[in-house]
Amino acid sequence: MSQETTGRAPEANAPGDVAPGASGPRAGVVSAPTPDAHVPTIPAPDDAAPEQWVADVVVIGAGIAGLTAAHDLRRAGLAVEVLEKSRGLGGRSATRTVQAHRVDHGAQYFTARSPRFRHQVDAWIAAGLAFRWAEGLPTWTAAGGWRDAAEGGHPRFACAAGMNTLGKALAQGLEVQRETRVSHVARDGDAWVIALDGGGVRRAPRLVVTPPVPQALELLTGAELPASTYAELASVGYAPCFTVIAGYPEAEAPGWPGLHLSDHPDLAWIGNDGSKRPASDGTVLVLHATPAFSREHFDDAVVDNVRPLLRAAAEVVPWADRPAWTDHQRWRYARPEHRHPAPALLAGPGLVLAGDAFGGDAGGRIEGAFASGLAAARLLLEANAAT
Ligand SMILES: Cc1cc2nc3c(=O)[nH]c(=O)nc-3n(C[C@H](O)[C@H](O)[C@H](O)COP(=O)(O)OP(=O)(O)OC[C@H]3O[C@@H](n4cnc5c(N)ncnc54)[C@H](O)[C@@H]3O)c2cc1C
Repeated sequence: MSQETTGRAPEANAPGDVAPGASGPRAGVVSAPTPDAHVPTIPAPDDAAPEQWVADVVVIGAGIAGLTAAHDLRRAGLAVEVLEKSRGLGGRSATRTVQAHRVDHGAQYFTARSPRFRHQVDAWIAAGLAFRWAEGLPTWTAAGGWRDAAEGGHPRFACAAGMNTLGKALAQGLEVQRETRVSHVARDGDAWVIALDGGGVRRAPRLVVTPPVPQALELLTGAELPASTYAELASVGYAPCFTVIAGYPEAEAPGWPGLHLSDHPDLAWIGNDGSKRPASDGTVLVLHATPAFSREHFDDAVVDNVRPLLRAAAEVVPWADRPAWTDHQRWRYARPEHRHPAPALLAGPGLVLAGDAFGGDAGGRIEGAFASGLAAARLLLEANAAT
């Protein structure tokens, strides 16, 4: 499934973009075409001399976890290459342009409870990327109507240019290959062999894998994970989310930034997306279906999902069922429901899994993905120091 359907066209890597410590040829130059994209071609051991290795570390996924890990590993002096299947950066921290509006169709905002992430957020605020969007958010219940934000209290941050700004910022200075989907990972001697869709292979001694865990496990069928590790990871589960974006050029925007619906069977969230954009024209609402609705109707025809969700929104915002235009996104792996307790997992020699499904209660959101990326880098560096 594509987690991001739009974004900037891929850019050529600028000369000099190679991360410090790279000793071999540039990453984009060494792909070895394979006759069948789905069957990884593993070069003969003679071809696997260290000087031919492209990077010290390959990171799969340019979401918040993968980019954070890549950053720290690069800062530690390793040559890092990030492989990302989409055109966009930031993964589920996603933004698209619809009807000339920038709209966040994945993560809506982020929290910063840990001092380390707060430090990063302060840097983003100072650079003009992020701002304090809301102090707590209101909740709506069918039984009791509105409950004010006040008790929730902690700040929510957003990005005026869109939540994918975080991915773009984290990717700066990194070697990121976009529209490069990994099809399969296998172990060959001391190396991880990473086969790409459409041909091409990477070899690296270390590998960080950050797609949602079910997708990661599909990639790792050839990685010879211990059965106990595989079982732990197989128990990680995600809720899907059907998302509707709806535009109302004539409507006056609601007075709140966004609101949670705590007991609605179909609708969990209404975001007032224009409240994040300084020059917002008209009103754009982002509706997130509940996990129950999304599960039951994930593959239904778009119109059969959009209509009931608009009707549900109209229970709160009377004109919400009369948009001028709509768009949608199906997130198969939106939010992890059953998370792994460790912040990241060393699953094999030089192999770390990370992402928002790690970190127990601290996971499941952007802040958790960031913490998991840091933990992944730390685990690899510690394992490196121990050998
Ligand atoms: C609808 C929705 C609403 C949300 N709301 C919030 C919110 O308000 N606040 C909050 O904090 N969090 C929210 N989240 C969760 C938040 O977006 C995630 O926790 C966070 O972005 C996860 O980051 P990640 O790096 O772990 O994973 P991802 O962002 O999923 O990154 C993984 C990357 O791997 C790439 N990839 C996958 N397979 C391959 C492959 N085979 N080859 C190459 N690349 C591959 C993907 O394209 C993706 O870019 C929301 C998520 C969704 C979907």
